[in-house]
Amino acid sequence: MAIDFTFPPEIDALRLKVREFVETVVRPAEAVIAERDGDRRFMIEQILEMRAAAKAWGLWLPHMPAEFGGMGLGHVAMASVSAEAAKSGFGPFALNAQAPDEGNMHTLLHWATDEQKERYLRPLCEGRIRSCFAMTEPEVAGSDPTLIQTRGVLEGDEWVVNGHKWFISGARGAGFAILIARTEDEPEIPQAGNSAFLVDLPSEGWTVVRDVKTMSGSHNHCEIRIENLRISRDRMLGGRGQGHLLGQARLGPARLAHCMRWIGQAEIALDMMVDRALTRFAHGSYLAEKQGIQWMIADSTMELYQCKLMVLHAAFKVDRGDDFRSEVSMTKHFVANALGRIVDRAIQVHGALGYSTDTPLASMAQHARWARFADGADEVHQWRIAQRAIDAYRKHGSTRVATGDLPL
Ligand SMILES: Cc1cc2nc3c(=O)[nH]c(=O)nc-3n(C[C@H](O)[C@H](O)[C@H](O)COP(=O)(O)OP(=O)(O)OC[C@H]3O[C@@H](n4cnc5c(N)ncnc54)[C@H](O)[C@@H]3O)c2cc1C
Repeated sequence: MAIDFTFPPEIDALRLKVREFVETVVRPAEAVIAERDGDRRFMIEQILEMRAAAKAWGLWLPHMPAEFGGMGLGHVAMASVSAEAAKSGFGPFALNAQAPDEGNMHTLLHWATDEQKERYLRPLCEGRIRSCFAMTEPEVAGSDPTLIQTRGVLEGDEWVVNGHKWFISGARGAGFAILIARTEDEPEIPQAGNSAFLVDLPSEGWTVVRDVKTMSGSHNHCEIRIENLRISRDRMLGGRGQGHLLGQARLGPARLAHCMRWIGQAEIALDMMVDRALTRFAHGSYLAEKQGIQWMIADSTMELYQCKLMVLHAAFKVDRGDDFRSEVSMTKHFVANALGRIVDRAIQVHGALGYSTDTPLASMAQHARWARFADGADEVHQWRIAQRAIDAYRKHGSTRVATGDLPL
């Protein structure tokens, strides 16, 4: 049989090594960062120390090819590394595999010219700079990139760009941005109106207005004003009108990378739920002995199992170069929602403690909320998933290919 759910021994050893790295290097650093809450400089120093340790442990840049100093792992292998690393919020940063840089690295690897790769991708891979991806705008629905109003006009050898962006993760302190702007007046199809640009930061005409404060605090998701920003012609990434294509190509694996990290978070929540249920005593027995609690544990266990299978299958399709859009959409929707439900049940089992900030659950619940609309809102994924199922039925008289095209 061709289906084998075991990993090669070296990948399994790597997964365990990442687990040990998180326990021995990342967790202690996370604890001292928490003690000095709000001291950003100290946090950055700690991340740099974790990064030096990741290099020494041979865990640096798992998702990039050796040519750029990485470990060259495919998406399936990355699933096991990312899920382990993300058991601490700082794990992915330590390995230099955090959003949005991870997605930007993949984008540059596939779309940048050799000169652009040397200038932007290499320092990003070496951890010398960070990056951001600037697409969403306050005035129009981010779910529909054909509405983008930021405008680029070619003047001689330079593009002059004006516009407004927000929720641009990592913008403050980034060395460059991948900026999406409208450049085409009458594209053949509405999706071909946007182009992508590489913007050196800081740049005249690019102003960070504020760090948008969210329900989980301020995490460098910035509002940006773009006024007469001049970008040299050779800083276009991909061709004219290919901004949407590039965004879609970027978002597939980037969404999956989110799911891998969310699995790490969901597993922490389920472990905590079971641990608490085994030690909390009420009404004559431990919580773990009560059917109502067992149902919560069972539902969470089944959902996490589904998350893992879906991520592995979608990653398998990405690695094979198959069309992965449907599988990534279904996976992103399912894992984002499962994460919210599992964390919420863990809070319920912890009672008041779960609602407090004495455990990481409250913070995990706040972070889990954005998973349902960022990088593709639930309803947009559902719309696409339904479309593909309907198309499959029309074409083949069966929805089978739309359900993962599995041999069942
Ligand atoms: C923490 C965080 C980090 C982010 N980082 C970045 C970043 O680095 N770069 C960047 O460019 N953007 C970033 N974003 C923005 C994110 O990508 C957008 O929030 C997302 O694309 C949705 O766009 P929107 O917020 O404008 O919502 P809208 O597009 O206005 O959608 C609002 C709601 O409308 C509904 N909806 C939309 N379309 C449909 C439909 N067709 N059918 C039914 N219902 C629909 C959905 O319920 C959706 O949630 C980030 C957001 C967050 C919260």
